[in-house]
Amino acid sequence: MDLGISGKVALVTGGSAGIGLAAAKSLAREGCDVCIAARDPEKLADAVVELQEFGKVVHAVLADVEDPAAARRVVEETRDVVGPVDILVANAGGPPPGRFDELGLADWDVAVQRNLLGTVRLIHAVLPEMRSRGWGRIVTITSRSAREALDGLALSNATRSAVAGVVRTVAREAARDGVRINNVMPGSIATERLLQTAGSEEEVRRRGEASPAGRVGSPEEVGDVVAFLASERASFVNGVSMLVDGGESRVIA
Ligand code: NAD
Repeated sequence: MDLGISGKVALVTGGSAGIGLAAAKSLAREGCDVCIAARDPEKLADAVVELQEFGKVVHAVLADVEDPAAARRVVEETRDVVGPVDILVANAGGPPPGRFDELGLADWDVAVQRNLLGTVRLIHAVLPEMRSRGWGRIVTITSRSAREALDGLALSNATRSAVAGVVRTVAREAARDGVRINNVMPGSIATERLLQTAGSEEEVRRRGEASPAGRVGSPEEVGDVVAFLASERASFVNGVSMLVDGGESRVIA
């Protein structure tokens, strides 16, 4: 299937590693020019080299989505260097882990800035131009915690659900202007983040074996879903939160 997005400009935040980098690769493979933004200059430089293999324009911007000025700066730099953003993949690191009674207000502040307001600011920065040009795709990356409360991840449970609410809202408001916005909720995916939250390779393996698919997912398996939702082919999919968890969540998907 041709996804119909060759030549579009995609901005992927948190795009230097893991799910963000895999999404950037899937989009570049479909012919998108790509701008990635993340916090670590070395990882960004390595990711640029990997993305250049697809032969499209690749640009990288050093940015922390927790910085209130970052979203606008990244979107403007993408427009100046690559072109106006057609596709936004709003992604970043996860919030601090912990049970509700273990977390302080400073932790809440980090999670709200990184995972809720970081996403809101990015949507603010791209939406007016997408609407005026009559085409846009936004995909937020959250977690299956938006659908099912996960033990020991109080901040994820709260902020991911809030993002899903933002997605449903913007979907209704911007649909007539050709903008589609959807949310992807990964389960256990083999990235640095999973290794950190699980604590060891052994625990990652145990989680995989305990899941219905008998393994954890790969970043590419999420990246390809992101590319589909960001595509012309998904033109009537709007406001959806989609689980990519191999069937792990015990909820109506
Ligand atoms: P990762 O740690 O492998 O990669 C995160 C990427 O985001 C890196 O490029 C990092 O540099 C960048 N980043 C982190 N904080 C940032 C910030 N404040 N500003 C800009 N860039 C930032 O993580 P991942 O596994 O790819 O996870 C991506 C998202 O998906 C996270 O929000 C994570 O919580 C969520 N998620 C992951 C899993 C999983 O099993 N891997 C499961 C559910 C949800």
